[in-house]
Amino acid sequence: MHQPDLDNLRLQALELGADKAAIIDTSAISVSEAVTFKCLVPRCPNYASCANCPPHAPTPEEFRRVLAGFSKAILFNKRFAPEVMLSPDQEAARTEAFRSIFELAAKLESAAFYAGHYLSFGLAAGSCRNVLCRDQKACAVLESKACLFPALARPSMEAVGIDVFQLAALAGWDMQPLGREAQADKVDQSSLTGIVVVG
Ligand code: SF4
Repeated sequence: MHQPDLDNLRLQALELGADKAAIIDTSAISVSEAVTFKCLVPRCPNYASCANCPPHAPTPEEFRRVLAGFSKAILFNKRFAPEVMLSPDQEAARTEAFRSIFELAAKLESAAFYAGHYLSFGLAAGSCRNVLCRDQKACAVLESKACLFPALARPSMEAVGIDVFQLAALAGWDMQPLGREAQADKVDQSSLTGIVVVG
């Protein structure tokens, strides 16, 4: 992998709207069953209801095998106001925030592809069931139909077992988990993270 290509992709992530972007070694990415277990306990409403979420997403074991064939990735992060991420009356803005991470991952993946790194793939944040298909009765893929958003839908980083907070800390980024009980006025910052593995 040529460093200028990676530098260029990192800059493109920023041009596409990321507030931070970093080149990381894939060997530094921690992939753990403990992360996907958090989809099950406590149970996420999207568990088993989306083709890109556990247990339908690639398992951590499968993803570790895939990742072993790659050496570099572009990690990116976008800030949002804590109110957008936490307030019950900001659901539309929250959905748009998550959608922007799907769009950024897809566009950066495409940029890597057209730069010759044709095996590159992006991972977003959150569930495409919630972000892209929230008005649908069910995930079309799980009904044996075509995905309604094939160019955008991706598993999230966490859906394949990536410890996003560990990775952000490695990049020197200050990211904190926000639970259901978190209050916007008590949170300093909130952000979402995605990745494009380059190959
Ligand atoms: S975008 Fe919609 S149809 Fe496609 S995998 Fe996600 S939930 Fe299913």
